Amino acid sequence: MTKVLRLPDPLSSNLAHLKGSETIAINAEARRLRSLGKDVVDLSVGEPDFDTPAPIAAAGIQAIQKGFTRYPPNIGTADLRQAMATHLSQLSGGRAVDPDRFVVSTGSKQSLFNACFTLFGPKDRVLIPSPAWVSYPQIVHLSRAEPVMVAGDGEWGLKVSVKDLERHTDKLVKGLVLCSPCNPTGSVYTLSELRAIGDWARKHGVWIISDEIYRRIYYGSGAAPSFFDLGDEYLERTVIIYGASKAYAMTGWRIGSAYAPANVAKAMANLQSHTTTGANHPAQLAAAAAFADPKVEQEVVKMTAAFRRRRDRLVERFRTEAPGVEFVEPHGAFYLFFRVDGVGPKGSLTGTRFCERLLGEHGVALVPGAAFGDDRWVRLSYAASDKDIDKGVDRIVRCFADFESGVG
Ligand code: PMP
Ligand code: GLU
Repeated sequence: MTKVLRLPDPLSSNLAHLKGSETIAINAEARRLRSLGKDVVDLSVGEPDFDTPAPIAAAGIQAIQKGFTRYPPNIGTADLRQAMATHLSQLSGGRAVDPDRFVVSTGSKQSLFNACFTLFGPKDRVLIPSPAWVSYPQIVHLSRAEPVMVAGDGEWGLKVSVKDLERHTDKLVKGLVLCSPCNPTGSVYTLSELRAIGDWARKHGVWIISDEIYRRIYYGSGAAPSFFDLGDEYLERTVIIYGASKAYAMTGWRIGSAYAPANVAKAMANLQSHTTTGANHPAQLAAAAAFADPKVEQEVVKMTAAFRRRRDRLVERFRTEAPGVEFVEPHGAFYLFFRVDGVGPKGSLTGTRFCERLLGEHGVALVPGAAFGDDRWVRLSYAASDKDIDKGVDRIVRCFADFESGVG
């Protein structure tokens, strides 16, 4: 008897776990409300409010005028890879960085996708410290592996320790996706913490994908600690994600990169040769200027100083105007992650409820912790103008007061 096959659903099982990005969705909703004339302060998305520095924009325009409008080299132009190698080498005290081990992509989101898709597959488990940026579990699912969320320690800026990782380690664990400086918490792993995690990974043969796109937005001195600051042996099973979006105010140009051992870089390049054929060509020339031009470096220093000032003011305002509200002390990136489950008489407020009311009644868009795996929390992005941040905090404090007094 012929077996009757069930018609497949219209959508492939590739998308079995797929949800759209909440950060992108909330940002789109805030923009929609604003286009309707509503007074909405958008502190949801992690996107610098600064314009792309002029020398970068000029390099992009010149690239178009000079005819760099054909297919780019799939792995990225030699100039861009060299500029990144020199730049990252300087950030790490002159260590050797090989330009041929980079694959340049359409934003570091694609670099992360390339890395996960290249390294992981069915039956593999990939550890992700939680709370985690929205796209990590999704990207791991798309590679058909299983994301395993490892809760960070509340006493320790929600970071994970080797002990936490050991508790989830078995033979099926093939990877760890680490983010430092961290989105959504702003926590930063110290060099000795990175080394300890690197030792754990080496012991168990686990790949580390180290997302370092916020490395320059660091409130200690210099750049945040990186796997590039460790010996070569720590790079043997590590893919380092870097990009131009955040520190260079280039989110729309879509340039990111992955630095990997040669065989992995080659595999990622092959994968990419069938998807995007390389990142936007003029944008690559603009990014090469970003990493190489000393005038741009001055702008990066200024932008980071502005983020630091905003962080200081935000922290100060939360401490004095919302003294009972717990938050993670931000040491990098541009997010404040605060806890709402203690707000109000009932003590069971969720981030989702808080954000709904804050947007609906007070006109401020933030991202509920649910998007990052823990709805006791809420994320505020201070990559926004001082005026918007101040207005936003005024309204957040009012919203806390509403919940405290049981109004509405
Ligand atoms: N990693 C993290 C932690 C992020 O917050 C973002 C933000 N978009 C990305 C990667 C991707 O950035 P992009 O694709 O713009 O380089
Ligand atoms: N990474 C930023 C954020 O978390 C940009 C949006 C996104 O790509 O998710 O808000």
